[in-house]
Amino acid sequence: MSEINNSLSRKGAGTKAVWSGQTKLFYQGATQVPVVHSVTFGYDNVEDWFDVAIGKKEGHIYSRNTNPTVDIFEEKVRVLEDAEAATSFATGMAAISNTLFTFLSPGKRVVSIKDTYGGTSKIFLEFLPRFGIEVKLCETTNHEELENEIKKGCDLVYLESPTNPTLKVMDLKRLIDAAHKVGAIVVVDNTFATPINQKPLSLNADIVLHSATKFLGGHSDAMGGVICGNKELVQQVFHFREINGATLDPNSAYMLLRGIKTLELRVRQQNDSALQLSRFLKTHPKVEDVFYPGLESHKNHDIAKKQMSGFGGVFAFSLKGGFENVKVMLNNLELAHLAASLGSVGTLIGPPKVTSHVETSEEERKELGIPEGLIRCSVGIENFEDIKNDFEAALAKI
Ligand code: PLP
Repeated sequence: MSEINNSLSRKGAGTKAVWSGQTKLFYQGATQVPVVHSVTFGYDNVEDWFDVAIGKKEGHIYSRNTNPTVDIFEEKVRVLEDAEAATSFATGMAAISNTLFTFLSPGKRVVSIKDTYGGTSKIFLEFLPRFGIEVKLCETTNHEELENEIKKGCDLVYLESPTNPTLKVMDLKRLIDAAHKVGAIVVVDNTFATPINQKPLSLNADIVLHSATKFLGGHSDAMGGVICGNKELVQQVFHFREINGATLDPNSAYMLLRGIKTLELRVRQQNDSALQLSRFLKTHPKVEDVFYPGLESHKNHDIAKKQMSGFGGVFAFSLKGGFENVKVMLNNLELAHLAASLGSVGTLIGPPKVTSHVETSEEERKELGIPEGLIRCSVGIENFEDIKNDFEAALAKI
């Protein structure tokens, strides 16, 4: 678990991402973080070992609990989120499930939204009720419904903004304030926004979490998850995770911390390309609608503008003519990869009907506002003109 150390707190995000956790030299003067594969850490005497074991001295004992490479990854995210503490996990889903199971027990009540990531939604609908935990999922942008359900009493409010795949945005501050009035803990999934574009802790959220597999790692080559927040809460989740064993392994931690160093550059480029592509698609005659919080026409643009400093690298658009035309466009793309996931340096594109919402019925998709011909795109860092030309040529085949 990484804890507060303020030396980089006033620096920019780009500087924080490069230097946090690694301002010193490593083994034999190495300038880059070593991947420490050792499972166990030895001591010259029992006294030192005991002091580390009871937390009196810094050190490591066993890599399921803590590991030096993993610590540095956690430190980078902690500093980027301006948090007191951070801890990491094998995947984003492990971060989510460990957090929920740390704070919830039989008889507790959760209020959340209908548009959470599919895996999260499965925990809400399939697993938590099995343990006698009540879950209320509200219409994602219906703030009155959310506030009313929160007011009825709840222990945890779980939010995700922007959402997948239609990029709905909710007023985090308003909902966090409502939750705190009834003493609930607020957890925010910040995966789509990244700490470059949105800082839920600065809006008083208690825990912010990420699938580090996405933008933080940024290269689609390592999986991980991370949570940040105040020391006391993060310590509780860390304790659950170290026993539960959903630990991030040192190789993945290295890949993620290497990727995160370019987070700010990547996200700036992705913000820019996503906005330009959304604008281009908005005026295209074969496109029915475009969903991007950076567009003035987006239903939640005003809220997004208030709480985000950039609108992210993910957008969605629907084609006239439905799924038949989706197939034609996607099958004719040359640069963009037809693949699930998001946040990579390479553009990833796919229809939610085949990816995130493959198990959702036609009717449920309609209820969530997901059109038949919807395509979700996570733009990479390729040159904008090349991606635009790829889209234009593929659309011309319809
Ligand atoms: N949260 C969001 C918003 C996601 O999009 C995802 C995965 O797509 C997850 C969490 C889960 O992350 P992981 O696949 O690393 O378990």
